[in-house]
Amino acid sequence: MEDSWDVTPAAGAPPRIDPPDALFTGARHLTRIADLIEAADIDGARAALYAMPIEEAHRYWMNASTMPNHGPRDIGPETGSVREKVGNVAPRLRAAVGNRDRWHCRYCGLPVADAAFFSKVWAQLPAVFPRAPVSVANGWPIDRVFKMTADHVLPAAAGGRSTMTNLVTACGACNYQWKGDLTLDELGGALRGPVDPGWDGLVGRPLLL
Ligand SMILES: [Zn+2]
Repeated sequence: MEDSWDVTPAAGAPPRIDPPDALFTGARHLTRIADLIEAADIDGARAALYAMPIEEAHRYWMNASTMPNHGPRDIGPETGSVREKVGNVAPRLRAAVGNRDRWHCRYCGLPVADAAFFSKVWAQLPAVFPRAPVSVANGWPIDRVFKMTADHVLPAAAGGRSTMTNLVTACGACNYQWKGDLTLDELGGALRGPVDPGWDGLVGRPLLL
C-alpha cells in the first residue's frame, strides 16, 4: 500500500530536531531553479540559486553533529567515508527508497532532491557558485544538505543490509552528521513520515536548455 512504510516510525520516541523554516523554503527554490533552467533563463536561475538559504543550510549541517549522544564531527562530502556510504546503495534501490518516502528525510522531515538533479544543475550552471561561499572548509551546504541519501537504519557497520526494509531517505545533515554509524536507540531518534506528500524530489527533471 502506498501509504505504508517498510520501516515503521517508532511511537513515542523523540524525533530529530525540526529543520528551520528557511530550509523548507529552500526546497521550493530548488523547483524554481529547475523551472528557470528549463526555460533557458540562466540569469534567473543564478539569482534563484543565490537566494537559497546557504547560511541556514550550513548551520543545520554543523548543528547536526552536536546533537545529544555523540560528539562533534564534520565528515564532508569529499571524504572517503561519505563516498563509501553513498556507494553502498545502488542508484535504482536508492530511487525506490526515495519514492517510497516521498523524498523526505525520515529523520528530520526535510524535502530532499535526487542526486541527479544536482548533477544536472551544476552541469548547466558551471562555476556559478563558489564551492565554499560561507567559509565552509569542505563543500557547498546546499547540495550536501538537500541531496537525497539512503541511510541504513541499522548501520551497515552493525550488520544492517542494503534492503528496502533497512533503508530510509535521509538528508545529508541527518545521514552524515547526525546518524552516522549509530543506531536510533543510541541517538534517541525516531522515524517520521513526509511533511508534504506532493514533493517529488525533482526526479527526472530534464534541466535542458
Ligand atoms: Zn534530515
